[in-house]
Amino acid sequence: MRVMTWLGGDRFELSEVPDPTPGPDQVVARVDTVGICGTDVHITQGLFPGTPPTVLGHEGSGEIVAVGDGVPTSRIGERVAMETTSHCGVCENCRTWSLARCENSVWSSGFFAEFSVLPSQSASRIPDGMTLETAALTEPASCCLSGVSRLAIPENAVAVVIGGGLMGLFTLAFLKSHGVETAVMSEPVQSRRLFAKDLGADVLHDPAESDISELVNDLTGGRGAHIAAEAVGKPALVAKCAEIVRERGDVLMIGVCPQGSALPVDLFDFHYKEITLQGAFGRGNVFADTPEAISNLNLDGVISGRYSLDKVPQAIKDSGDGKGIKMVIKPNG
Ligand SMILES: [Zn+2]
Ligand SMILES: [Zn+2]
Repeated sequence: MRVMTWLGGDRFELSEVPDPTPGPDQVVARVDTVGICGTDVHITQGLFPGTPPTVLGHEGSGEIVAVGDGVPTSRIGERVAMETTSHCGVCENCRTWSLARCENSVWSSGFFAEFSVLPSQSASRIPDGMTLETAALTEPASCCLSGVSRLAIPENAVAVVIGGGLMGLFTLAFLKSHGVETAVMSEPVQSRRLFAKDLGADVLHDPAESDISELVNDLTGGRGAHIAAEAVGKPALVAKCAEIVRERGDVLMIGVCPQGSALPVDLFDFHYKEITLQGAFGRGNVFADTPEAISNLNLDGVISGRYSLDKVPQAIKDSGDGKGIKMVIKPNG
């Protein structure tokens, strides 16, 4: 099979390697679609740790073509969403923190390849009506679902999402499906605001036009939002979220702020308003539930570019340049 290996920096190599065979409790999947993640972009830019040579791509979907000992042969032919890390379910982290933080996690090679071998557990069945392209959005969606699932959402809640990239869009959709009454999307790019509307946004805000604080004040009679989620990764915007939530409001950090960044807020306000700041990293415990959770969302048009396996470097570059919402690789396309 062909595999695209990252060699460091912006260097990649397409090579031919033997087709994988499944070991005990493993499956082999023919890879259909792999999303380019901001993390892939950041690794090639040196902004996120990565050790070459390695195969990147952790947002995959495909079809199981072979199973190892201990895996029912009925799984052959199953259409699946795939993740690159496994969990044991019994270690301290699995039990008290998150399956995504398993201390015994086994890392599978990335999905920029025609086939992938991975633990049976890391390939989750998708609903019959779902396309494999939508299924490739499972991993990013699961990070948002995990974060939103941990919030206690009050009745008649007003929630604001800052940032309408894929993560902000999923966060908004899950806030709505978890009971938020009024969801506001604040995003400067019009096409992204319109996507947010398709995913359930009640109010759209353009930060180039006005300050989100004014809109929230008008909407809530000066009380502030119950929840504000930051999905960009800028400390100043996390601070903005703290400003626009009401007393005992929740700030949800979906975006990844650069390592070493500090939060520019008046801690007195934090203390006085009794604000909760909640981090959200990774798929938590919800990966297997995510395909079902996104199956009813209108995701048409979210995938804005499709590239063959040899075009991985170009796809990563275009993704880093902020073209479209989600670029994907079609290794067998
Ligand atoms: Zn990702
Ligand atoms: Zn574990």
